[in-house]
Amino acid sequence: MEAIPSVDVSQVRFDETVDVAVVGLGVAGASAVMGARQAGADVLAVERSGGPGGTSAHSGGLIYLGGGTALQIACGFEDSPENMAVFLRAALGPDGDDDRVDVYCEGSPDHFDWLVSIGVPFRASFCDEPNRESADDAGLLFSGGEDSYPFDELATPVPRGHKPQCVDSAGGFLMQRLGAAVSSSGARVAVDAGAEALVVDGGEVVGLLVRTDDGTRAVRVRGGLVLAAGGFIHNEAMVAEYCPLAHVPDPAWRIGTPNDDGRGIRMGVGAGAATSRLDSFECALPLGPPHRLARGILVNASGERFINEDAYTGRIGLHALRDQDGWIFMITDDVIHESNPIGLRIGFAAASPEELAVDLGIPPDALARTVGDYNDAATRGEDPAFHKRAPFLQPIGEPPASGIGAIDLRVDHGAIYATFTLGGLATDSTGAALDGEGGRVPGLYAAGRTAASLAAHHYASGISLGDGSFFGRRAGRHAAERGRAGHTS
Ligand SMILES: Cc1cc2nc3c(=O)[nH]c(=O)nc-3n(C[C@H](O)[C@H](O)[C@H](O)COP(=O)(O)OP(=O)(O)OC[C@H]3O[C@@H](n4cnc5c(N)ncnc54)[C@H](O)[C@@H]3O)c2cc1C
Repeated sequence: MEAIPSVDVSQVRFDETVDVAVVGLGVAGASAVMGARQAGADVLAVERSGGPGGTSAHSGGLIYLGGGTALQIACGFEDSPENMAVFLRAALGPDGDDDRVDVYCEGSPDHFDWLVSIGVPFRASFCDEPNRESADDAGLLFSGGEDSYPFDELATPVPRGHKPQCVDSAGGFLMQRLGAAVSSSGARVAVDAGAEALVVDGGEVVGLLVRTDDGTRAVRVRGGLVLAAGGFIHNEAMVAEYCPLAHVPDPAWRIGTPNDDGRGIRMGVGAGAATSRLDSFECALPLGPPHRLARGILVNASGERFINEDAYTGRIGLHALRDQDGWIFMITDDVIHESNPIGLRIGFAAASPEELAVDLGIPPDALARTVGDYNDAATRGEDPAFHKRAPFLQPIGEPPASGIGAIDLRVDHGAIYATFTLGGLATDSTGAALDGEGGRVPGLYAAGRTAASLAAHHYASGISLGDGSFFGRRAGRHAAERGRAGHTS
């Protein structure tokens, strides 16, 4: 990675001084501003584009929260921080940050209340279509496969996808509400203002250079600077170096704005911060709604199943891309499918699995064996091979179905494999950037997709807006407190 070198303070004449500066106004930056303002700091936020929003404004708006939020309780679900932590450790790992997970789960109910208090409403209604935002304004859904194998055997399944009260995708609405909170918080906001480099004094971050239409301004920072400038899915060189698989799918499905170019991470590295898990990325392969499509079976090039089809779509996508070379089909029939709501190439002409396999270029014997074994067990209401749950077990291609067919989910045949990066600057659970030797980089904080956070090597929908807002808010608060404490940390 090409780090962006910091500028020594001796080379800089500052134009202004603030307690806390925040770079980027997506969910993490807006939350950092609020955290710092609520701790009494004088805050400047700089945003490279024309206004707040970032990728967050294009998102579905799901926020992963739990541990007994007011919304979970109002919808009749019982959760606890411990139950949530067991799920997150298993679902987002391996090699996650246990301390961070614990802090997140403990603080999650309060964080929900905080979002409500700053103007983000939620409607207490449970939507039973999982994995993507509800089509109406229902506020709660399963968004990480909590109720599917293996997680349903590890922790009590509880829905934790919290969607702000808005019909369909809620990211724009969420950012409108957060943007309004920032505007009325008394923070100063500069748009069309891109952070170019950090200013250091010895090992400490003491300011930043900001490029505006009127030239470059130098801002001195008393307490701390929070980098919340998004991830790096649109930095070709970084993706090629760290997670080349994320660039295999059609570029149209890279999740982010052009400003997800890794600049925040590169500035942090230039100031001495370490990185973590840059090879980690999310890859969602949407198979619904409706979720009943999980009654089909997913097969690879050898005609074999490789996962329980009712799993979280991000889990399926990552396994399909990483372990099956993105070469998979969903085998289904006309009764299960009913229509073609996800708009993929599909045919139901085959009379038998063997005939279908020839069309697909899969070994006929293998597909016939896979379908036969699956159907035998499904008839008994069982799936000993992959533990798909009973509501999704239905023999394929048997009457009243009139034919067996396939949905083409190959990565190079138009299927949606939506990727974005999860690695970034190493931070502790206060949001402070770490130097790779166990110490902090004084004055520097990071949050959102600029930082490696909850998702170690797997994902659950809502984690980005969840950890971005939660740790962004904490980073802002800690940066403000550092200023008040006179730089003791
Ligand atoms: C279609 C879609 C659906 C999604 N659905 C969900 C979902 O439901 N739940 C979920 O959790 N996640 C979802 N995601 C992912 C999620 O939106 C992002 O991972 C998350 O919003 C990242 O937040 P952030 O604050 O880190 O970055 P951003 O929201 O991208 O904000 C970063 C900001 O920094 C600015 N910036 C960049 N560089 C600079 C610079 N040098 N100086 C100043 N400003 C700079 C950018 O312009 C941007 O405004 C979805 C994404 C998409 C596209």
